[in-house]
Formats: sequence, C-alpha cells, structure tokens
Amino acid sequence: MALGMESKPNYLGRFAPSPTGPLHFGSLVAALASYLDARHHKGAWLLRIEDLDPPREQPDAPQTIIEQLTHLGFQWDGEPTYQSHNLDRYQQCLDQLIDRELTFMCTCSRKSFQQVYPGKCRGILHQPGPHAVRLEVPNVVIYFSDLIQGQQSFHLREDIGDFILRRKDGLFAYQLAVVVDDQDQNVTHVIRGSDLLDSTPKQIWLAQCLNFRPLKFGHFPVVVDASGQKLSKQAHAKSIDLSESVQALKQALKFLRQPIPTNNTPQLVLDQAIKNWQRNDILSVMSAHIDSD
Ligand code: GLU
Ligand code: ZN
Repeated sequence: MALGMESKPNYLGRFAPSPTGPLHFGSLVAALASYLDARHHKGAWLLRIEDLDPPREQPDAPQTIIEQLTHLGFQWDGEPTYQSHNLDRYQQCLDQLIDRELTFMCTCSRKSFQQVYPGKCRGILHQPGPHAVRLEVPNVVIYFSDLIQGQQSFHLREDIGDFILRRKDGLFAYQLAVVVDDQDQNVTHVIRGSDLLDSTPKQIWLAQCLNFRPLKFGHFPVVVDASGQKLSKQAHAKSIDLSESVQALKQALKFLRQPIPTNNTPQLVLDQAIKNWQRNDILSVMSAHIDSD
C-alpha cells in the first residue's frame, strides 16, 4: 500500500474508524488521541476506513467522517485507504495460515459457548458447509507494555481462545484485516480505546504467526454514557455537529485530561494541543463519564 513517503518514519500512527455512522464524541476522542500522540512525536498519521462489514455500515459514512475530520482540522498523510479494496491481500495471508495448518474450520454458533471459545472444532481442516476459520492459539501468555495502561498479560487459551479470522458469512474478521494493514502500511504505534485492549494479544499473536514486525500499543479509557455504556452508533451517540468543531475538540481534550487551549479555530486548538500533549495525563480519566445527550 503506497504511503508516498521516501523513508519509514520512526512513528507512524493511524485512525481506523468503522464506517457504521458519522463521528460521535467517542470516535472523535479516538481520532484525537491517535493524532495528538503521533504529531507530538513528529510522526505521520494515516486515515484508514475499516469497511469490512457492509451489513453494519452506512454507505455515506466514509464521506461524512472525512468531511467531519477535515472540518475539525485534522490532516492525514497520503490518501485515506479502504479495507474493502484490500480483500485479496487478506485472503493471501489467510491462505498462508491455512496451508500451515495453524487454523481450523468451525461451525459452532456464538450462542453455543460462553465467553472464551473452548476449541471444540480444533483439528477440523475440511468442512464442506458454511464455517468460520479460526486461528488455533497455543497455551502461552502474551505480555506487552501498554503505552498508557502499563504492563499487560493475557493467557491466550484461557483468556482469549481460538479466534475468528474469517466469519461464517465469508467476511474477513477485523483481527485479520487490522494486523495485515498495520503491517503493510508500516504502522508503528496504535493508540485506541480500551474496548480493544483484549484484541491486542490476538493481534500480537497473529502478527507473530505471519512473521510481521511488532507494534507499540496504547489504550485510553473509552467514553461511556451516564449508564456506563460505551458510546457507539448502536447506542445512538450523537454525531459531532460541524458548527461546533472548536467546542467538540475542547470537550474531547478535557476528556483526555489535556490542557484546554484558549484559541478559537480548530487548527489553532489542534496545534496547541499537539504541543501540550501528555500521554500519561490520560490515566486520570479511568473513571470518567459524560452524558451522551
Ligand atoms: N475499526 C475499529 C473500530 O472502529 C478500530 C480499529 C483499531 O483502532 O484497531 O472500532
Ligand atoms: Zn467450533
């Protein structure tokens, strides 16, 4: 995937929204945290539209998100990329794992087990009917040092379980696509919400299976509403209003426990926020919440 850069930067971050709807406060915080962390460290920042799941998407969401980000003063490097344009590459990586017998074919329904998939279909390499493809995980612990939350450890079999790479409906799983793209785009740093913290051991392990280089990860606490639910389109979070860009940016900075610039254009607010950015201040957000309406 072309980045249009001569050399690999030391820091390459990205914002990778799923186009299930317009940007809301939660996704603005994700865009902002990844942007400020990248720019503060003189890094590049990419925009990748994760349009892998058409039934959950809104056709005009990518355009709306791009317009909102532009209006909010964000500037990404290169052109936005679309996961829907990269399906051959995901298939190629999947085939590699299948050929090496690191996967199996699973027909279990999500309802047939509790949280962690118990490995029922391990060893099934051929399955004529509809099936998901799962990566078989070994009995090992994945350790990583989160840039925001510190030391983490997850036991792959006990905490995570064999996970899906291609779904029963034929769609590629987020885990596979995100690992392949982060590798191919030379991403070095992933800053995202803590709702994805338990995806990180999956992604670290999958990257190792594919002989990809390791990344650094940082997870900020996610924005929840007054009832403790993560803000999402599904939870009817309100779209960011373009007439209130400066206010929205300041509110997001406040959530991330950053100083609030007094400037009143999006560009100037962002410039100041890049200078001020302190990753560690985010930690005090841990128990914060906002009202979603
Ligand atoms: N597309 C994912 C989402 O919107 C985020 C992917 C990531 O940052 O790794 O939740
Ligand atoms: Zn199964």
